[in-house]
Amino acid sequence: MHDLIIIGGGPAGLTAGIYAVRYGLDTLVIEKNVVPGQIATADRVENYPGFPSISGMELMNKFKEHAEKTGVIVHSSDVRSVKDGGDKKVIVTDNGDLEALAVIIATGANPRRLGVPGEDTFLTKGVSYCATCDGPFYAGQNVIVVGGGESAVTDALILSDIAENVYVVHRRDELRACSILQKRAFDKENITFVWDTVVQEIKGGEFVEKAILKNTKTDEITEMEIDGIFIYVGITPNTSIADVEKQGAGFIVTDEKMESSVSGIFAAGDCRRTSMWQVVTAVSDGAVAAISAHEYITSVKFEN
Ligand code: NAP
Repeated sequence: MHDLIIIGGGPAGLTAGIYAVRYGLDTLVIEKNVVPGQIATADRVENYPGFPSISGMELMNKFKEHAEKTGVIVHSSDVRSVKDGGDKKVIVTDNGDLEALAVIIATGANPRRLGVPGEDTFLTKGVSYCATCDGPFYAGQNVIVVGGGESAVTDALILSDIAENVYVVHRRDELRACSILQKRAFDKENITFVWDTVVQEIKGGEFVEKAILKNTKTDEITEMEIDGIFIYVGITPNTSIADVEKQGAGFIVTDEKMESSVSGIFAAGDCRRTSMWQVVTAVSDGAVAAISAHEYITSVKFEN
């Protein structure tokens, strides 16, 4: 029986681990991926204080190194579910069951699917969710980026240094991304913005060949010949393992102490319902969740 099990070894989970170990809790972090965290796929992170410009992978490695030096133990397993047994939580993994007094869910999120015909068919054959991972395959080619948020504009910029032309297809005529990214993208000669437009279908043979586009104002349908489509229309949290209150796409609802609707189960980072999903907010969530878990565990131990 551990004091605390943290599910997820990204920025939120490792920060929670660092705080929990420093508070003397017998802590285990469970992570299924060798390289955890959406952040590891980010080409550049420029808004994490102390690091004006750092690759996501490098930042993640620094978190891991820091956690290891603090004594955080990371166990490799795939968590299937978290069961609430009152004062005891059971974590069901592919390597057997584990028990803890409290759990922090820091399982992050994955890119949301656009949900149009052809998206699944052409996955890895022209459809991608990560320019850092797949961008180099499109050297000198023409690609579409779908979305108007930070992810879309960041990855459009990465692709503009690789591809011949990048078309940012956005459903409105205004971007959601921060102004510094917008300016960089507007200044790029090979990035074209296709406003008020959605992708209706992705077509091709063995690989993507064209996108069917619809203007949201005029309903006009057009075809664009294209080699790749990069999709950034938000995130879907990885929260199916826990039966706690959720909202929207499945984001875990917590109070200000990061506690979920189930006593002793906390959530932190991208899997939590919040107004902002950034590395800086994930690490903040992790710290708050660990301290709240410490408070909870102390009271459980006192009562027993
Ligand atoms: P996001 O901020 O939710 O933006 C999603 C974009 O996709 C929006 O522009 C949205 O349009 C559009 N969209 C949503 N559903 C659509 C649909 N069905 N069809 C067409 N377009 C659709 O998502 P994100 O850019 O992936 O970012 C997720 C979170 O991570 C955000 O909190 C973001 O700030 C954060 N993030 C941070 C960094 C960083 O700190 N460096 C980098 C990347 C992401 P509307 O604008 O019309 O809603």
